[in-house]
Amino acid sequence: MTSRSITVLGATGSIGASTLDLIRRHRDEWRVVALTAHSSAAELAALAREFQAEIAVVSDEAALPALREALAGTTIEAAAGAAAQIEAAARGADVTVAAIVGCAGLAPTMAAIEQGGVIALANKEALVSAGDVMTAAVARYGATLLPVDSEHNAIFQCLQGNDIAHVHAITLTASGGPFRDWSLEQLEKATPAEAVKHPNWSMGAKISVDSATMMNKGLEFIEAYHLFPVGVERLRIIVHPQSIVHSMVEYRDGSTLAQLGPSDMRVPIASALAWPARMDTPCAPLDLAAIGQLTFRAPDETRFPATRLARAAVIEGGAVPAVMNAANEIAVAAFLNSQIGFTRIVQSVENVLSLGLAPAPTCLEDVIAIDAEARIRARELMEPVR
Ligand code: NAD
Ligand code: MG
Repeated sequence: MTSRSITVLGATGSIGASTLDLIRRHRDEWRVVALTAHSSAAELAALAREFQAEIAVVSDEAALPALREALAGTTIEAAAGAAAQIEAAARGADVTVAAIVGCAGLAPTMAAIEQGGVIALANKEALVSAGDVMTAAVARYGATLLPVDSEHNAIFQCLQGNDIAHVHAITLTASGGPFRDWSLEQLEKATPAEAVKHPNWSMGAKISVDSATMMNKGLEFIEAYHLFPVGVERLRIIVHPQSIVHSMVEYRDGSTLAQLGPSDMRVPIASALAWPARMDTPCAPLDLAAIGQLTFRAPDETRFPATRLARAAVIEGGAVPAVMNAANEIAVAAFLNSQIGFTRIVQSVENVLSLGLAPAPTCLEDVIAIDAEARIRARELMEPVR
């Protein structure tokens, strides 16, 4: 097999680590171009050395001296800052894994899209914020957008060999998160430590909080809307606490195709890395007899209103999804810093959405401006009342 080149944006995170674990196991099949991180210079340098990357980039310029020092004596380039991150992504690779958390990943992901390769997309916030701006760029530059998010990867697999025109409905499964069975009174007192303890998946802090509020499913609803053009009325959400069925596609003849697998992101990442072929993973196959039961229930949008907000946001369209995402990023950070309570996260997103709207974005710069403005508004609304 000839080797393929790969760039991992967000190499030090949870998805980055799962990706590099797979690359490590198939080392001779891959050549690493760029690895990026926010500020963890030592960790990034160790990965860049191990994988003999061409370039390592920290987005936080203050981390550059440490990165330089950790890469001394190697031929690996060290760089820092937003522009350097975009430049590294624009070097192009056969596969770019977009695994930065938040809208911060949008510009480098767009730079990779403009090179026309395969984009293995984990960074859902980028697609939610940019929407048509991103999908139009994918079409224009002939890039291939492969979803890594487990639900969307499942749907992508269930659509293979079928015509999307025959899809009756797409159902995203949701674990329901750690607070699935909590009352509203309990939710008011939920702490950051409780929120990041996901029952089935091990993930970064931000997406773990999003899973607890169900905003993750809201973002995924919008992500699905852009990836699979069946129309918002054909997109459903169902709670499936075991996280074994990763999502389903129902066809007009009454057939429903589902993708099942262990709750390990290396499975969907491997699917995207090897597509349209398959590759080995170290994940133990499902033992359905041991799992015993797969259960399903309707989501409760009274306790978890985030999916209702997301559905409304995608129907309104324009700048609304980007505003919703930005407000959520600010609220989640405030919750993780113990500045606001758990139920205030989604309330504050709703408050920002009620402020009125920016015009629909038509280019990357518009999306970035909408995101920046929404962050300012979200922070203002979060200020304690004096
Ligand atoms: P994480 O917090 O573990 O890692 C985030 C990565 O992005 C790190 O490498 C970090 O250094 C980098 N980063 C953080 N802030 C940055 C910034 N401002 N600029 C540049 N780089 C920055 O997050 P994660 O759990 O790996 O999630 C990454 C993305 O994948 C998110 O969009 C998340 O929603 C999505 N995702 C994650 C999982 C999962 O299981 N972890 C599953 C599905 C989708
Ligand atoms: Mg997911």
